[in-house]
Amino acid sequence: MNTPEFCSSTRGADTNTPFSNVILSGLASDRGLFIPQQIPTLSQEQWQKLKSLNYQELSAHIISLFSGKQIPLKTIQNISSQSIQSFSHPDIAPLIPIHDNLSFLELYHGPTLAFKDFALQTLSQLFAHFLETQKQKLIIIGATSGDTGSAAIEACRNQPLINLFMMHPLGRTSTLQRLQMTTVNAPNIHNIAIDGSFDDCQKIAKSLLAMPELQNIAAQHHATLSAVNSINWGRILAQIVYYVYAALKVGAPQKPVSFAVPSGNFGNIFAGFLAKSMGLPIHRLIIATNHNNILEQIQKTGNAPIQKVSPSLSPSMDIQVSSNFERLIFLLSNRDASQTKSIMNAQEQKLHLSLTPQIHNQIQKHFDAFSLDDEQTLQTINHYFHKHNLLVDPHSAVGLKAAERALAESPSHHVVALGTAHPAKFPETVSQATGQPPPQHPLLSSLSDLPESFSSLQNNTQSVFNHIVQVVSSQ
Ligand SMILES: *Cc1c(COP(=O)(O)O)cnc(C)c1O
Repeated sequence: MNTPEFCSSTRGADTNTPFSNVILSGLASDRGLFIPQQIPTLSQEQWQKLKSLNYQELSAHIISLFSGKQIPLKTIQNISSQSIQSFSHPDIAPLIPIHDNLSFLELYHGPTLAFKDFALQTLSQLFAHFLETQKQKLIIIGATSGDTGSAAIEACRNQPLINLFMMHPLGRTSTLQRLQMTTVNAPNIHNIAIDGSFDDCQKIAKSLLAMPELQNIAAQHHATLSAVNSINWGRILAQIVYYVYAALKVGAPQKPVSFAVPSGNFGNIFAGFLAKSMGLPIHRLIIATNHNNILEQIQKTGNAPIQKVSPSLSPSMDIQVSSNFERLIFLLSNRDASQTKSIMNAQEQKLHLSLTPQIHNQIQKHFDAFSLDDEQTLQTINHYFHKHNLLVDPHSAVGLKAAERALAESPSHHVVALGTAHPAKFPETVSQATGQPPPQHPLLSSLSDLPESFSSLQNNTQSVFNHIVQVVSSQ
């Protein structure tokens, strides 16, 4: 019988992997992504009942729907309450009304000031639970375009059973993003700067995770390999919660709501798609991107060449190969693993993503897509600052503008635009847009005084492999 607490790989090799192994291993054995065998659905009455829950209660409820009997309810409640401990806002995810049809969901009050804290704080608690019960250690390999790195480092720095290797593209993150990672001084945290792009880092991470030699070396140290990128199912799961939280606040389940989501690796918006698949009345999911707009091309035409990433003012979305798109393809093909695999292989080999007409139709049924160039991003930050007294970061600005465009096309539904990072994380861009620097955030103000530590490595799998082996062997 299919249940949510067991997962399959999008490429077909693993069909019955328990939640615990899915969390601990990250990537499936055939380099596919894990997805629950079945998505639980809730009735209108059941959604209605969830309205009375606070954030942590809602989080515990959603996680329990997907972890089933594999974690005791008390433990889940504990995980949910621990994972919001370091958030600074009492609402955890405050919802700011902008006008009748538009709200802004601030997802950046966690310890590293980006929405990724939601996912990583929960994931690290899940790691800790399973590592203790299974008496295991973990070697985590991650790639970051900026914000995943600091969120993962912050979440894992006090976890003695975890060694974290985090790659970032040398010189392509913002200075503050880099400092948030490289100034953390902990023996289990290892920062690596790769001379390449985020896509290069992500490719190396995936290759390392699938490398038998590295798995053997990990095993010699009583550890397994895992991922903290949004290829890890646990991250997506944690993100479903704020879609439900926000939708219920603006009128669901009676009234459908749309979400505008600044997108890169497609993890965040994919969590929205799962919320919709669970029966939450979501009207449209609006993909918002910068000029690296492969997702928009795909939504419009069903196929697109994979081009080189070109840097933008919203660096966390400077991505062309969106990992989580694979999960969407798998679900929209009615869980056809061989079709998914052949689309993904063709993408890798021909550097072209090409969907079947059936999948493309489905995408158009659920998703809209809009992209902004840097100039429009600056204008949007300026507009919201002067017209709405709301200071937003460049990623959130891309989402807000996409929300406006979607409203212009279909004004009948409320849109929630997701605020993915705090404006204080991007002071140069914010002051370029508004003419004044954003107020400093206390969590960021002392970073430039701290010593940095990272290793600069060449853009290839072997050099990172050698580095990891050397670090692990010397411990
Ligand atoms: C990671 C990130 C995004 C993109 O999210 P995905 O889940 O990768 O699509 C958008 N904005 C910010 C600030 C981010 O850190």
